[in-house]
Amino acid sequence: MKPKCLLDMDGVIANWHLAFHRHIGLGTAGTLPYTVNWDGVDQAFWENIEPTPEANDIVELVINQFGIDRIAVCTLYPVKHGYPWERIHECYLGKVNWLKKHFPELITHFCLTPSKWFTASPWSLLVDDSDDNIDEFVEEGGNGLLVPRPWNSLSPNSGSSSEVMAVVKESLSDWAIYFRDTPWRF
Ligand SMILES: [Mg+2]
Repeated sequence: MKPKCLLDMDGVIANWHLAFHRHIGLGTAGTLPYTVNWDGVDQAFWENIEPTPEANDIVELVINQFGIDRIAVCTLYPVKHGYPWERIHECYLGKVNWLKKHFPELITHFCLTPSKWFTASPWSLLVDDSDDNIDEFVEEGGNGLLVPRPWNSLSPNSGSSSEVMAVVKESLSDWAIYFRDTPWRF
């Protein structure tokens, strides 16, 4: 079995936090309380989120590492954060259209789920900005790479894109060695 990469969208390649802060009238990204008001977060909102400054570099790195056919974009529909079930189609269409616009090469494997942990396996690596998502994934036997952001436990490394990418590159390199040297797991 070859390793697979589950690549998160919001907070990793899509700048959701910045888009949402603008949506509610604040100028900058940062931590958010998860009792957010989803009024007006429609299909156009999801489609028009800007890529993160590191998006191109992260996508290039994971493609080089795993191969284009071993990557699935894995993203939440945020019902556990109060997003209304009856508007999931807007979230889904908006995210798919966002992906087609910015990274059409990744559209083949697209996973929209409320439960990323359910996709965990010993040969999969989740690249995500949420400590909780990584912890749940690892608890289910998967592997995790946390992208430093101001809202997670690697916030000291989130000050600049170069700091963020230094962590991502080093972690991916470590995981490459791990996957190469532990064939017994597969
Ligand atoms: Mg995320």
